[in-house]
Formats: sequence, C-alpha cells, structure tokens
Amino acid sequence: MIEFDSVVKKFGDNVVLDHLDFKVAAGDRVTLIGPSGSGKTTILRLLMTLEKVDGGVIRVKGEPLSHEKKGDRLVPASERHLRAMRRSIGMVFQQFNLFPNMNVMENLTEAPIHVLGRKKSEAQERARELLATVGLSDKETAHPTQLSGGQQQRVAIARALAMDPDILLLDEVTSALDPELVADVLDVLRTIAETTDITMLIVTHEMNFARDVSNRVLMFDQGRIVEEGTPEHIFTNPEQERTRRFLDAII
Ligand code: ATP
Repeated sequence: MIEFDSVVKKFGDNVVLDHLDFKVAAGDRVTLIGPSGSGKTTILRLLMTLEKVDGGVIRVKGEPLSHEKKGDRLVPASERHLRAMRRSIGMVFQQFNLFPNMNVMENLTEAPIHVLGRKKSEAQERARELLATVGLSDKETAHPTQLSGGQQQRVAIARALAMDPDILLLDEVTSALDPELVADVLDVLRTIAETTDITMLIVTHEMNFARDVSNRVLMFDQGRIVEEGTPEHIFTNPEQERTRRFLDAII
C-alpha cells in the first residue's frame, strides 16, 4: 500500500530522512515512535505531498507519488496526479484544522461534494453515519468554536473518513487536548481500527493506544529506523538500547 524506497529528505543541511526504506501493507496499523525531531511528522507530510523528497521514491498503491507515467516514460507529477494520489489518503492533524466558517455538516460534506462530485444528499447521509460513529450526531449544525477540542478532533476524524480514504494518517491527534478529552478520541480511533480495514499510519506518544491498535511499531532516531516489530516486542522486549532509553523516558 505504501512504500518508502531509499527516501532522503533534507531541510537545508539538516538530513531529516536518510535513505529510509519501509513498506506498509494494506490493512496494516503502523505506529511511528521516536524522539522529537526524528522525522515522524515529515514522513506523514511527504505522503500528503505537503513536502517533496530530495531522493528516492515513495509509492502509494504501487504508483510513485512524485512522478506519473506518460506513455512508457516517468515524468514529474502534475498537480492533477498529486490531487488524485492525495484522494486515497486522509490526514488528521494535531490542531484539528476544521474550516472555522462552516458548521459540522458542511465541514464533512465540502470535499465529498466538490472533490468527489457526490450528490449533496448522499454526502449528508454518509456524514450522518460518520457523526454517529464518532458520537456527535447532535452536533450537525454546531460551528467548530462551539465544540470542545475533543469534539473538534472527532469531527476532524469523521471529515477525513468522509472521503473514504484507503489510508489514514494520524499525527499526534491527542497532543493538543486536555487529558480528560483524550480517552474519547482514542476510543473513536479504536472503533475505526476494529470496524474498518483502513490502513493506518500513526504518530503518537500514547503508548497504550499504540499497543492496542497497531500491529507494527517502527522506532525512529535521526531519520532512520533503529528497530521495528510487533507492539509486544517493542514495548515489552526491545532489543536496542536506543529504544529502551526512549521508552523509559516517556512511559
Ligand atoms: P516531533 O515528535 O517533535 O513532532 P518529529 O519526529 O515528528 O518530531 P519532524 O517534525 O518530522 O520530527 O522534524 C524532523 C526535523 O525536520 C526536525 O529537525 C525539524 O526541525 C525539521 N523540520 C521539519 N519541518 C521543517 C521545515 N518546514 N523547515 C525546516 N526544518 C524542518
């Protein structure tokens, strides 16, 4: 589903990803852990085409993100190709990023109507299903400012799912929330993990959540994977000293 093939990303002299290789199979739930600055968010931003690689190739569903086929040649991706690739990926950010001037229903139906060309009634029906999933059926007409952070984040999750993505990227989705609001958001994500076969890439410091929902954990340091394995392996029996030090510091 996702393949990083010798991916290099630099910001000036700072080599953030250093010939990074990994694959994520369809239906995998992969958590990326590692110290601040190790490149986790950059990986998600590259997948959303919010950043460009400096070397190597990222493939999504077998197709390179940065290039497209013209006949039998590969040429740099057009904006159209990027939009099409982005369509199969949903992302939820730390800061919710809801459209502030739209109510909840409008937030959920804007892209399905204008990007996917769905009928308004169809988009609204799907939005209602998703609002039920995230426990916010009574908030259809509320505006983001009338919602708590946890509710806004659940709307943001529903909005990402409204596009029926194959891949969901979750970037520290509970970090900006008051502690008492975190559990509801994590419960919603657990339900989505249990009831769909969506591929998930998760950046989180919530290790219990990572243990519950993911089937693989990748430990990053300085733009490289230092260890990977099942949550069981990484959280209870890590082999690398670097992983042990990281987990001791945050748990
Ligand atoms: P955190 O856990 O703190 O979110 P992270 O592992 O997600 O960290 P990234 O946000 O991917 O790390 O950042 C990796 C490195 O890239 C950091 O050194 C950061 O300063 C740098 N970086 C990220 N984005 C930019 C940018 N737009 N311009 C310059 N440097 C950047």
